Amino acid sequence: MSVPDFARYRLFLDQPFSAGAALPLEREQANYLLNVLRLRVDGTVLVFNGRDGEWLARLVPEGRKQANLELVRQTRPQPPASDLHYLFAPLKHARLDYMAQKAVEMGAGLLQPVLTRRTQVSRLNLDRLRANAIEAAEQCGILSLPAIEPERPLDAALSDLAPERLLIFCDEGLADASPVPALAQCKPAPLAVLIGPEGGFDEAERTLIRARPNTLPISLGPRILRADTAAVAALALVQAVVGDWSRI
Ligand code: SAH
Repeated sequence: MSVPDFARYRLFLDQPFSAGAALPLEREQANYLLNVLRLRVDGTVLVFNGRDGEWLARLVPEGRKQANLELVRQTRPQPPASDLHYLFAPLKHARLDYMAQKAVEMGAGLLQPVLTRRTQVSRLNLDRLRANAIEAAEQCGILSLPAIEPERPLDAALSDLAPERLLIFCDEGLADASPVPALAQCKPAPLAVLIGPEGGFDEAERTLIRARPNTLPISLGPRILRADTAAVAALALVQAVVGDWSRI
């Protein structure tokens, strides 16, 4: 694995990249680089757009408030996008921010909020979800951003999943059995992980989820975890046993 350069600031820019291009910065980005990081002429940062890998870019200030970034050379190629779907009941405010950031750090390739009976959030701010995904990617050197889907009712989200995708259902009601052998026995398949709301799934939902073919209910141990903790625990488990940690 190529180790990303963490000494330089990394910035997501939603623009096409090509060698030598001068990319205009938004006011806030220019202000951050010029007045917070205090980068000067020829100071360098790393940039990515989710498509063209990571590039070294040189700051070209235009006055005190505007600046361009001039692309120097590619520092890392674009890796293949993650195919791991993360389905979750949205939480409120800071805990949702945390969950989105952690899901990206753990390698989710698609974030699908699902509305369940006990979900306490009914409308989601997708821009905020995206901003959190970008922040996590910038900090952790992740070069592809997850797709972010609008919220959907649980039944619709389940029927939208391709039948061959294995749904790993984190079921707090499951009698305690280690999830490791159950996961290890799965045939290779595209994966989705489902985490419920703070209030848990109700019985009808549990029945609906279990009725879907190609669904693996798992336990995350003998303690009930908060949903944001469960997210990190489940994604770590899945990545380690059947995901990209097992391919290192
Ligand atoms: N309030 C519920 C718990 C909900 S926890 C109760 O007391 O039963 C929120 C979500 O995290 C759950 O829906 C489940 O998806 C996941 N989760 C938490 N602890 C878990 C565990 N021990 N095993 C499997 N999933 C768990």
